[in-house]
Amino acid sequence: MTTVEGAFKRGRIYAERHMAACEHAGLRWNETSITEIVMSQAALAATVVPFTQPAEALSGADWVWWWIDATGGYGMLVQAKRLTVTGNGWSFGFDYQSKSAPHQQREMLFSTAKTLDLLPVYALYLGTGDYRGWESCSESHQSEGCLHCIKRSVSLIPALLAEQLIVDDAASTYERSIAIEDLWDPPRSESLLIPALRPQLAPELAEFLKHEQHGTRAVTRQMIDRVLRARAGAFGATPTIAANLSRSGNHDMLGPIFNDVPADAGHWGLNYFDHMLAPLRHAPPAYVLEIMSGGFDVERLASEMPDNVAGIAIVRVPQQRMNEE
Ligand SMILES: [Zn+2]
Repeated sequence: MTTVEGAFKRGRIYAERHMAACEHAGLRWNETSITEIVMSQAALAATVVPFTQPAEALSGADWVWWWIDATGGYGMLVQAKRLTVTGNGWSFGFDYQSKSAPHQQREMLFSTAKTLDLLPVYALYLGTGDYRGWESCSESHQSEGCLHCIKRSVSLIPALLAEQLIVDDAASTYERSIAIEDLWDPPRSESLLIPALRPQLAPELAEFLKHEQHGTRAVTRQMIDRVLRARAGAFGATPTIAANLSRSGNHDMLGPIFNDVPADAGHWGLNYFDHMLAPLRHAPPAYVLEIMSGGFDVERLASEMPDNVAGIAIVRVPQQRMNEE
């Protein structure tokens, strides 16, 4: 029996080995090969349903990920981006636009995620620690051979924070992203909030941001906490706050868990509370339940999804982290 922890850890170990082998051989590994490695290992502990892709659509294909537990689900649309290091500069090409495409990949990711009520996310493939020059990854960084750096080879960043002009070095990348295998770690402290936002929080939301969370709620906190930290650290942090956003008529047992959120937009020009929290739901959508029950038709499912979706992965998030190091 492979645990979720074990599967993601092994996915990262195999991915890192492949990156290392390619780096030694002077080959440039690409997103597709790393995604295959990570997905094939994830499939040992999660439900992975790949769609058959037309060959030309292979690059830039996004995966739907649902993190679920007994209390609900948190859904993401994930696109892979590899790191390119040039001197001290790091780049991911978030604003990439192919000559034939009418829209930037980034716009496509955001609009498709919005259609499906998912959080747009990038999976960052960072290469080996050698490739990254063992630059400090965290307070626990341990110079060359640092285990935390190695874990970061496969990381996730909310697409909202993947700003090309800001995420351009080791520090900004590490601060805004998280190792995929740490995604369901209970957050160690309460969310960092601009004081002006506090009185705007509905009691359930205040509670959620203040106390330790587990399972899908821990996943959600790992994502929104990074956004709140960036918001608190930004220039001109005093929010011009409009009335709260309240979803009416949507307070059902299947919809979003938080329906009353502050309307602050930061410099992103969108309601980031709603953007980050709407994908946290009391129950995952029907297609997820269908897949879990086993009675589904892949071709019909694929035909109901936008063309750039490569498949669906459903992970039962552990409630407590097993210490199996
Ligand atoms: Zn490190």
